Amino acid sequence: MYSNRWVIRAKVVSKSGVRTWSNAKGEGQLFSMEILDSAGTDVKCTFFKEAVDKFYNFIEEDRVYTFSGGRLKVANMQYNKCKSQFEITFDQNSTIELDQGGGDDIRASYDFVKVADVERSQPNDYIDILGVVKAVGEPATIVSKKSGKELTKCELTVEDDSGAEITLTMWGDTANKARERFGGTPVVAFKRARVSDYGGRTLSGSGFSVNPNIPQAAALSQWWAANGGKSASRSLSSGGMGGNRGPDPFEMRKAVNSIKSDQLGYNEKPDYLSFKATITFLKKDKQGDEGAWYTACANGGDPCKNMYKATQTSDGNWHCDKCQQTLPDCVRRFIFSGTVADDTSTSWISVFNQQAEELLGGATADDLYDKITSGDGGGRDVYDSAFARATYSEWIFKCKVRQEMVGDEQRIKTSLVAAHPLDYAAESRSLLQALAAV
Ligand SMILES: [Zn+2]
Repeated sequence: MYSNRWVIRAKVVSKSGVRTWSNAKGEGQLFSMEILDSAGTDVKCTFFKEAVDKFYNFIEEDRVYTFSGGRLKVANMQYNKCKSQFEITFDQNSTIELDQGGGDDIRASYDFVKVADVERSQPNDYIDILGVVKAVGEPATIVSKKSGKELTKCELTVEDDSGAEITLTMWGDTANKARERFGGTPVVAFKRARVSDYGGRTLSGSGFSVNPNIPQAAALSQWWAANGGKSASRSLSSGGMGGNRGPDPFEMRKAVNSIKSDQLGYNEKPDYLSFKATITFLKKDKQGDEGAWYTACANGGDPCKNMYKATQTSDGNWHCDKCQQTLPDCVRRFIFSGTVADDTSTSWISVFNQQAEELLGGATADDLYDKITSGDGGGRDVYDSAFARATYSEWIFKCKVRQEMVGDEQRIKTSLVAAHPLDYAAESRSLLQALAAV
């Protein structure tokens, strides 16, 4: 239909993961990418079957290649946001070669949003971000809820000169190579990152350009050289909400005294910080047969989800004001405070059920209550020793800091949102790396 006697020199702006399909005609695999030429035109390209095996690993985002031997067709504008009216299909006989000249003449056009302003974007908006990648997480494998397939993801922490930072997730091949591509705190332009309200505000990335040859990048690089990491930046992403997510990387951690010295908790939204600390005290006060917990509604569904307080009635049942039910049982949920300390300071923290169970080695409040009331008299010792074992243990904590009104007084309250036992091997590696960088 169209001549295939052409050669395009272009930069790969984004590359999808490999998708498989199967239908009556058979099955196969494909991936797509968007490339950009020096005239500023971007083109969508698709690879099928054998071409996937041949080219998928060879093609990397943010690199320049020469392309020839592809088949042109008119773009389907419904699924194609590129400027070109054509799209290209490559097969295993196409020729694709890495261009050694670099791609400084190929510049995407960006409409950058400052990190601090991402809060004003709506979920599922697509925005361009220019920032310093200040931390690269470990690649992790998750199972997609939508497709049931395994996906690799890697979380980057991106900061700019607006005083804020945000978590940006890269996927697939890019996630596997994230340390290599984003190590060394480069300035990176992220094209069309998707805004999510998962865990505060977060971004999901695809297209990117490392150290792009644009004036804003040079300015940001200078700013980072002068100020990078010295001032506290506000995190828009809470983290710690993704189930088995690991602790924040070493370089993102702060010290206990930064709760005060960085004046955390005074913003409209809560602040989050991670630090390594030792538990120095747990307030395990108890009355009668009860302990450091409250009695919650046994209704595990909406609206209670075992969260709301249930009060014992005179006939021994449990009444919940929230769902207006009276049930024969309640569930007990930990709630207590404690102190944590590192070599800079000590802080009070509030501990809720899930993190309390982790600190107490998996014991649940109902377990401990059953032991106390089982009548052989040893239950109190089990209770006391569960708290004693946790005291003076060392963890990497993630905390939320916010203002609360207590009576008519404003107080800063620090709550535990995640606790990870210290991995001494990983910790030693991080310390050695930090020392080598001094
Ligand atoms: Zn209820």
